[in-house]
Amino acid sequence: MDIRFWNQEIETLAQKDLRQLQLTRLRELIGYAMKTPFYHKRLKKAGISSPEDIQDLEDLQKIPFTVKDDLRQAFPKGLLAVDMEQVVRIHSSSGTTGIPTVIYYTAKDLDRWTDLLARGIVATGAGPADVFQNMMSYGLFTGGLGLHYGAERVGLTVIPVGGGNTQRQLQLMRDFKTSVLHITPSYLLHIHQRMPEFRISPADLNLKKAWMGAEPHSENTRLKLQELYGIDIYNSYGLSEMNGPGVAFECAYKKDLHVWEDGYIIEIIDPATGKVLPEGQEGEVVFTNLIRHAMPLLRYRTRDLAFLHPEPCPCGRTGRRMSRITGRTDDMMIINGVNVFPSQIEEILMSIPEVGNNYQIHLTRKEGLDRLAVKVEIYSKLFTGDLSQLDALKAKINDKLRASITINSRIELHEPGALPAFEGKAKRVVDERDKL
Ligand code: ADP
Ligand code: ZN
Repeated sequence: MDIRFWNQEIETLAQKDLRQLQLTRLRELIGYAMKTPFYHKRLKKAGISSPEDIQDLEDLQKIPFTVKDDLRQAFPKGLLAVDMEQVVRIHSSSGTTGIPTVIYYTAKDLDRWTDLLARGIVATGAGPADVFQNMMSYGLFTGGLGLHYGAERVGLTVIPVGGGNTQRQLQLMRDFKTSVLHITPSYLLHIHQRMPEFRISPADLNLKKAWMGAEPHSENTRLKLQELYGIDIYNSYGLSEMNGPGVAFECAYKKDLHVWEDGYIIEIIDPATGKVLPEGQEGEVVFTNLIRHAMPLLRYRTRDLAFLHPEPCPCGRTGRRMSRITGRTDDMMIINGVNVFPSQIEEILMSIPEVGNNYQIHLTRKEGLDRLAVKVEIYSKLFTGDLSQLDALKAKINDKLRASITINSRIELHEPGALPAFEGKAKRVVDERDKL
């Protein structure tokens, strides 16, 4: 295995030294936080009035959580810790779950963030010889510019195309021999499906890897896409509140995501009680951003569910690894009283070879009962057109799903390309129970 580092010293810092560095940075951050109207009030109330009130990392738990709604309440400048003259960029969350929020950065903040992205890029084995096509949206969304600057810092050739326009994407890949993509799983699935239309197959291209993030996906989705394209796919995680992408990145081992712990303090909490859970247990991910001074965020509740791997990674990096996101505390569906995550359904669907690239979860209510329909596209190559084959496939999908989520679903099979396609974040759950 080819193991490369961007900043070997810091990436392999002993856990003890890493914690010390976190403490130093946390104290510095408290100084900035005290300058914001929002935290000034909130920290005082919690008995913290200066960085000296933080003696060790355990003291972090004295600080109340910050939630998305706090960012909205503090809009526009309640969380700003520096003069506007020092702010060189703003970003905004894509607003999947409501009103967007604003994030401020100083030049130094951007510099530190870019460095973390450079680490992730190098950890996946990419370097100056690579041609990188950035297929995430540019603009207010952090996915575009974030990886853009990280890749330039490492010295890759960057094609800043952004999302959408499949034909142009494929043309660029061919013309410039693109070797690395940054893309959402839904768009990567979609592109593969459109390839025949443009008489292109993955074999005509020079693709080697993809950094895939911005939305949840299962290990089976990764495996399926790796096979369809013949490339290595690395999970990349981040959120605008923590600067954007580059909070956690997979290394060459692809065994879940190293959190850059000198930049972020990660805690896993019980979403119901707010208590910090022991290492290894799944819960809600909470981050403290140690590297952004323009807009400090302490103990931010992401609503993402994950767990930490306690055992070290063979690559030698000491930043602990976070599991892939298994769900959100807020995307859980309750179907006739049963808790179901869309990711559970996806996991099953993507393990069935006859299932194609796209699916949709449809919830309705009839006679007081919830009904779950799962619409899936079939993988045409494995299908002869025989009706009994279709019925058998429906039964197989339903059986497998029932074994996992314990409820029955109506399976609808569709031709490839028949379901709505996504060029950005997918909206796979259609919940019409309230309408009926
Ligand atoms: P919004 O929540 O408005 O979409 P962001 O664009 O900042 O704001 O999206 C961040 C969220 O996207 C994360 O909290 C997480 O839920 C999701 N996300 C980002 N990367 C990944 C990933 N690799 N796997 C699963 N979910 C991800
Ligand atoms: Zn590793």
